[in-house]
Amino acid sequence: MTILVTGSAGRVGWAVVSALLAEGATVRGFDLRSTGRQEERYSEVVGTFDDAGKCAQAMAGGIDAVLHLGAFMSWKAEDRDRLFVANVDGTRRLAEVAVSASVERFVFASSGEVYPENAPDSLPVVEDHPLRANSTYGLTKLLGEEIVRFHGRTSAMETVILRFSHTQDATELLDPDSFFSGPRFFLRPRIRQQEGFGNDKVAAILRAADPGRDAHVLARNENGRPFRMHITDTRDMLAGILLALRHPDAAGQSFNLGATEPVDFPSLLQEMAKITGLPVVTVDLPGAGVWYETSNEKIRKTLGFEPQWTINRMLEDAATAWRKKTA
Ligand code: NAD
Repeated sequence: MTILVTGSAGRVGWAVVSALLAEGATVRGFDLRSTGRQEERYSEVVGTFDDAGKCAQAMAGGIDAVLHLGAFMSWKAEDRDRLFVANVDGTRRLAEVAVSASVERFVFASSGEVYPENAPDSLPVVEDHPLRANSTYGLTKLLGEEIVRFHGRTSAMETVILRFSHTQDATELLDPDSFFSGPRFFLRPRIRQQEGFGNDKVAAILRAADPGRDAHVLARNENGRPFRMHITDTRDMLAGILLALRHPDAAGQSFNLGATEPVDFPSLLQEMAKITGLPVVTVDLPGAGVWYETSNEKIRKTLGFEPQWTINRMLEDAATAWRKKTA
């Protein structure tokens, strides 16, 4: 079996390529960046998904299945054009070429941001919750889903949509420089993030809470409700993606893919502080804040998905990485 993995240089794509190669599959990667891998049974195309020639090159020689895991992620206003080009036009091109190349199954990495996650009609968020993206990134994923559903309806290619939970490598949790956890759990990276977004009011509130040294941040909404969301380990996402690739009952379906329980931020921050020795600064931010729970029951019942990496287990790995870095 030859599998095309897009986003092969990314967090999830890299893990998926590694697992497939270890199983003996033949894999082609497709990403803006080269992985630098030089292995038997691995080849790669370096380029953008919206480039028809690169998509044709990626599909050349017979591809049985596509795992479309690559995407551009940004929440900055100036990145809107790039988001649509990479995630909407890129997905359109790739899916069209896949249909022409008689690919049997196309798995698409969507996102929980296709739902109004922070203002849902009901909780937990299940797959038939109305789709109403509230960010440009979420909108590009929703449009990507529509493109994938279109090809699922109009061609013989089987399609599977996975609405990804927020996903991290465990070691990123305590890395102040990491893309997601840096600003989520460390005060100064969050200040820089909010300044970068142009959220002057939020940045000022955060700056006022700076104790003059590095610190963790516990974000709460304007009524003092701490943020709550799912954080899923890349290793669990990998397991779900492989089920979506192979399970007969995945065809034509959309699944939420992520950890079973949302993370309780106050206790997580407490545990983080025990490891790092940093103070935790609590900040109440304007607005409703982040607070949701998404059900993974459908993928557990239909495909037998069972996440293994609870937030406590992730934190153990994060602690080891932190100690190594600060030793
Ligand atoms: P990542 O940023 O680590 O990897 C994405 C990869 O896509 C990168 O290597 C990047 O170079 C590549 N890429 C971006 N634009 C491209 C383009 N135009 N052409 C070719 N390659 C391009 O992200 P990840 O965490 O591995 O996420 C994997 C997938 O899961 C993505 O589709 C993402 O949107 C989705 N997702 C991720 C999260 C999360 O929290 N990590 C949450 C929901 C959904």
